[in-house]
Amino acid sequence: MNHLQSKPLIDPHGRQFPYLRLSLTDVCNFSCDYCLPDGYKCNGEKDFLSLSEIKNISHAFAELGTNKIRLTGGEPTLRKDFVQCLETISQTNGIEQIALTTNGYKLSKNLKSWVASGLTHLNVSVDTLDARLFKSLTGHNRLSEILDGVDLALTLPLKKVKLNAVLLKNVNSHQFDNYAEMLRTRQMSIRFIELMQTGDNSDYFQKFHIGAQILKNYLFTKGWTEKLREKSSGPAIEYIHPKYEGSFGVIAPYDKDFCDSCNRLRISSNGEFHLCLFGEQGFSIRDLLQSDSQREVLKSQLRELLTHKRKQHFLHDNDTGVRANLSTIGG
Ligand code: SAM
Repeated sequence: MNHLQSKPLIDPHGRQFPYLRLSLTDVCNFSCDYCLPDGYKCNGEKDFLSLSEIKNISHAFAELGTNKIRLTGGEPTLRKDFVQCLETISQTNGIEQIALTTNGYKLSKNLKSWVASGLTHLNVSVDTLDARLFKSLTGHNRLSEILDGVDLALTLPLKKVKLNAVLLKNVNSHQFDNYAEMLRTRQMSIRFIELMQTGDNSDYFQKFHIGAQILKNYLFTKGWTEKLREKSSGPAIEYIHPKYEGSFGVIAPYDKDFCDSCNRLRISSNGEFHLCLFGEQGFSIRDLLQSDSQREVLKSQLRELLTHKRKQHFLHDNDTGVRANLSTIGG
């Protein structure tokens, strides 16, 4: 802990929060069937966090023990000042990891400059390896260009490269062999996340949700074994295989103990602090982001809000909370 830091953030259930997910924008240029099937619709004025507000967030969280910030959205890279966002955060004492979740749009063109500006971890969402299905699912015929970007990422000094795929019945639930083939020679992780029900997607959810057990069974039959979890690993379970360079990850938010390892907090692109991805209204902290001199008040406000964090979400009971879809806050 450096001299600027105060006591780390701990919630009433004893969990620590070294990890912040920061949404930079709600805007997304993809129209994924389970998230924004009709594309992004702007309803009202866009008033996303400014660079100086982002700077104040990253300083306050760093002083509260956060060492990793993930940039998400919407599609974070659509921000014109995306490089400056990276630079601002990377200049914050204590932030050691800057991660990005992206749909991979223009990855090949821009990735080098993002890495030069401080990006350390990259997650690219690729829900299917079938180009035709990819186009129908996302609205974009860009699979091969995105995969080229992923291969470029593996040549750059990034600490981790991951693919994210939402597990979808009859879309990718029979494509595990294809994903495994990618992992044979690539040192990366492919993480399948169970489809989560949101306010907008209940019909889609009924049709396409399938439990992560199908992937766990596949991995077991093919000789993949569960990797020993580090204390700080968060909710993903990783699987490795002696014949493969890469690993599979499984994120199963409907599993009983999923929330026990929660290590993350969230801020939406309009400056609302969220204790959980689901089921909670955000708390606006925007008025405390206007000047450096507010930092101590901001930090004590964050500590106070954290005392309200629930032990677990209520997704199992079909309580999707207030979130219409995940574009407002990032998955
Ligand atoms: N635009 C970026 C991207 O495509 O990765 C970042 C935002 S996107 C909302 C973040 C992640 O959330 C993506 O991997 C996406 O597949 C996932 N996601 C969105 N809606 C989801 C849902 N209902 N259930 C599970 N994952 C979801």
